[in-house]
Amino acid sequence: MNEFEFIRRLRDQVRSRKTSSRLIEGIGDDATVISQVAGRDAVISTDLLVEGVDFYREATPPRLLGHKALAVSLSDIAAMGARPLWSLVSIGLPSGMWNQSFTDEFFGGYLALADQYRVTLAGGDVSETKDGIVIDSIVVGEVATGAAIARSGAHAGDQIYVTGTLGGAAAGLKLIEMGARLSQESGVRSKESGPRVLTSGLAHDDHKPSETAAIESLLLRQLCPSPRIGWGIVLGEERLASAMIDISDGLSSDLAHLCRESSVGALIQSDALPLDQNVVKLCGRRALDPLALALHGGEDFELLFTVRSEKVERLPKRVDGIETSRIGEITNESKVIRIAEKNHIWDLQPQGFQHFKGQV
Ligand code: ADP
Ligand code: MG
Repeated sequence: MNEFEFIRRLRDQVRSRKTSSRLIEGIGDDATVISQVAGRDAVISTDLLVEGVDFYREATPPRLLGHKALAVSLSDIAAMGARPLWSLVSIGLPSGMWNQSFTDEFFGGYLALADQYRVTLAGGDVSETKDGIVIDSIVVGEVATGAAIARSGAHAGDQIYVTGTLGGAAAGLKLIEMGARLSQESGVRSKESGPRVLTSGLAHDDHKPSETAAIESLLLRQLCPSPRIGWGIVLGEERLASAMIDISDGLSSDLAHLCRESSVGALIQSDALPLDQNVVKLCGRRALDPLALALHGGEDFELLFTVRSEKVERLPKRVDGIETSRIGEITNESKVIRIAEKNHIWDLQPQGFQHFKGQV
C-alpha cells in the first residue's frame, strides 16, 4: 500500500459515513475547506503523541492508539465548553510499521470514536520517521461567540467541581510499567464487549477475578480514555462554568494552571475527591496510593471547572451518566492552593506531569 492508496482508502472510509454538510473539501484536496457560520467562534486544539514519551508501543494496541489520539484533543475542545465538529490527524511511522493492518486498526479506533461524537475526519498527513511513531491530532469545534470557557475566569467564592473519578489513568500507567497488558483481542474488541487482560507480568499472579476486572478497568482508563464531551457542551451552552481545564497533567498541576490564569487560589477538601474505586480496591496489593494518584496522577481527562455560587443549583446531576463532585472553593490568595485533610490544612504543590522537567 503506497501513500496514495492509503489516502484513497481513508477517503472512501470517511465518505461512507455521515459527514458534516459544512465540509466543502475534506480528504483528497490540498487543504480542507469548511463553511463558516455567523454567531459562532471556532475552537481549535492540537496534541502531539510521541512513542516512548506519551505512550508505549508494546502496551498500546493500534486500535486504542487511534482512539486515544482523538480522545485527548476532544478533551481539550470539551474543556473550552465547545462542540467538536471536524478533525485532522497526521501520523509519522517508521517504514517497518507502514502496513495495512496497523493503519486499518489505528483508523478503526480513531473513526469509531469520531462516529460516537459525529466528528468528521477532514484531513491530515503521513510521513516516514527514522524511528518511532509520532501522531499530531487536531480537532476543530465551535461555541457561541464569546462563550468559550477560559482558564482565566475563576473568582474567589466560586465552587470547584470535577467530573467522574480521579487517579485511574495514572494507576493504569503504573500497572503497565509493572508489566500488565491488555490481551490481543482487547485491541480489536470494543470497550463494551469486555476486553481480556493479561496480568502475567505482575507480581502476585494469583489474583482473583474481581482483581483482574479492576486491573482491566484501570488499563482502559489509561489506554482508552473517554473525553467528557457532553459535560463540555452543557457547561458551554448553559454558560454554567466561570473557568475550566481538562485534567491531563494531574489535578494538583491543572488546578495550579487554572488558579495562575485566574489570579486566585483554591482550598480543596481531601475527603470530597472522587477517588477511582478500582484503585481503592487494588491499593493494598499493588502499592497504589489512591489519594496521591487522584491529586497528582495525569491523563484522567476529567473536566475541572468552577461555578459561581448563584449558578450551582442549575448544574445537572449527571450528563451521559457521568456525575460531578464539588471538591472545594476558589479563594482570593493568588496562586496559593491548599488541601484540608481531617483537621489539618496543607499546601498542595503541583506534582503532576511536565515535559522538560528540570531543564534550564
Ligand atoms: P500534500 O502533499 O499536498 O500535503 P497529501 O498527499 O499529503 O497532500 O494529502 C492529500 C490529501 O489526503 C489531503 O486532503 C490530506 O488532508 C489527506 N490526508 C493525508 N494523510 C491523511 C491522514 N493521516 N488523515 C487524514 N487525511 C489525510
Ligand atoms: Mg502531505
